[in-house]
Amino acid sequence: MRLSTERLSLSYNGRDAVHEVTLDLESGELIAIVGPNGSGKTTLLRGLSRLLRPVAGHVLLDGDDIRAISSRSVARRLAVLPQEHPEGVDITVNELVWRGRAPHQGILQRATPADHEAVDWALEAADVHHIASRPLGSLSGGERQRAWIALALAQQPRVLLLDEPTSFLDVQHQVEVMALLTRLNAEGMTIIVVVHDLALAGRFMQRVIGMRDGRIAFDGPSREVLRPEPLEEVFGVPMLVLEDPESGLPVPLPRHPEADAGP
Ligand code: ADP
Repeated sequence: MRLSTERLSLSYNGRDAVHEVTLDLESGELIAIVGPNGSGKTTLLRGLSRLLRPVAGHVLLDGDDIRAISSRSVARRLAVLPQEHPEGVDITVNELVWRGRAPHQGILQRATPADHEAVDWALEAADVHHIASRPLGSLSGGERQRAWIALALAQQPRVLLLDEPTSFLDVQHQVEVMALLTRLNAEGMTIIVVVHDLALAGRFMQRVIGMRDGRIAFDGPSREVLRPEPLEEVFGVPMLVLEDPESGLPVPLPRHPEADAGP
């Protein structure tokens, strides 16, 4: 499933937050979007998932304009995990994950074996099977995040968009979420994820897109774009990129603002 944009502009109150972005997100890719706060990452995800109407340009899902496809039909192919989840949702993990089946179910239709299978798979994949009967409010931050991921997975999407899914997680849970995304991607899912942690992007992502001021500043294989110059241009701070001695993967780090000084 291919997701692309053609000169896509998205704005709030007449001001462009994403400006004339043209992108091709190919089937089966694992892509990170990085950039400073306010650079338009969340807005781009909203546009890609049909939550925000473009002021100019198009979003195409397998060549069809996403505005011309019903939201139910989009939801059967594409799932989005927003940065913030509604608070105070007093339901169990199982109930939450079942909501992901709505786009596949007819009105008043009873759950089918395919629905049960999808929910079981989602609970298993996100590693929340053992806490399926727990209310969301009783879970740790990491468990709750995995429950929301399971909700998105129950849609059985071909494309998964995630907005900073690891931001509030400890290192162990960050790595678990990234490993899950890698696994889903290996099974053929196209995954686009906004990440703040450049080291995580370097370790887990094949392609990295850098945004600044609503525009694409760089886009390419992580080894090619996670270099000091492109990163400095996007983040506006001096950067150092080390090479992981085990994997050879790039490990970007901000430099100390006072040259050659240590902590
Ligand atoms: P990022 O995800 O990279 O932090 P956003 O997409 O959230 O960036 O924001 C891009 C720009 O759009 C910013 O200037 C932000 O202030 C503005 N913006 C985001 N959401 C809204 C909104 N709901 N109303 C008005 N302006 C917004």
